Amino acid sequence: MNLVFLGPPGAGKGTMAVRVAEHFSIPHISTGDIFRANIKGETELGKKVKAILDAGNLVPDELTIDLVRDRLTKPDAQNGYILDGFPRTIPQADALAGFSTVTKALNFVLVDEEVVKRLSGRRVHPGSGRTYHVLFSPPKVADTDDVTGEPLVIRPDDQEDAIRNRLEVYRKQTEPLIEYYQSKNLLVDIDSSPAPDAVFKTVLNALS
Ligand code: AMP
Repeated sequence: MNLVFLGPPGAGKGTMAVRVAEHFSIPHISTGDIFRANIKGETELGKKVKAILDAGNLVPDELTIDLVRDRLTKPDAQNGYILDGFPRTIPQADALAGFSTVTKALNFVLVDEEVVKRLSGRRVHPGSGRTYHVLFSPPKVADTDDVTGEPLVIRPDDQEDAIRNRLEVYRKQTEPLIEYYQSKNLLVDIDSSPAPDAVFKTVLNALS
């Protein structure tokens, strides 16, 4: 099962990808996570892409395509995969079609107002990557990690300006992929507004 997860930032693609990956024992491949790990590790790639991610812009296609093409050759991806956050442009989708066959594209649908609410409330513990939400899953003590007691931060790309930019980038560059996969009869819309357990059920139904 070769899956692509589409949808605006904050629609819960990552949360669902973790659960679906576990359910079907296939890898969850998030290009955003790969870039963030490289930034944290201060690799050459990380240094190249840090400012791009901080502003909420897209990493150049060639770089991203090479990274995914390489990742999909790994043994764990031979029986299926979930691509979360890739493709994000038509050239990326065309490139993917050249080196793999997508089985289904799930489109996680959420209105802008809800996207902004979800992203602007997100808080992260930089050491562990643990995430909280000021409304939906607050830490025991405000702005403090439950486990270490260390301060939580707002991801640079979750700052208000960057959120607005990410949404604009999504509309312009990524939304055309909805039609792209629709025309290939691969698209399934998933309403992302309910609580995670309910969304997960919808996803499993869509994949059965
Ligand atoms: P995400 O965690 O999927 O929201 O991705 C975080 C950031 O990583 C994005 O705002 C982009 O800067 C970069 N990124 C992730 N996936 C891609 C992609 N497929 N193409 C270009 N940039 C990407």
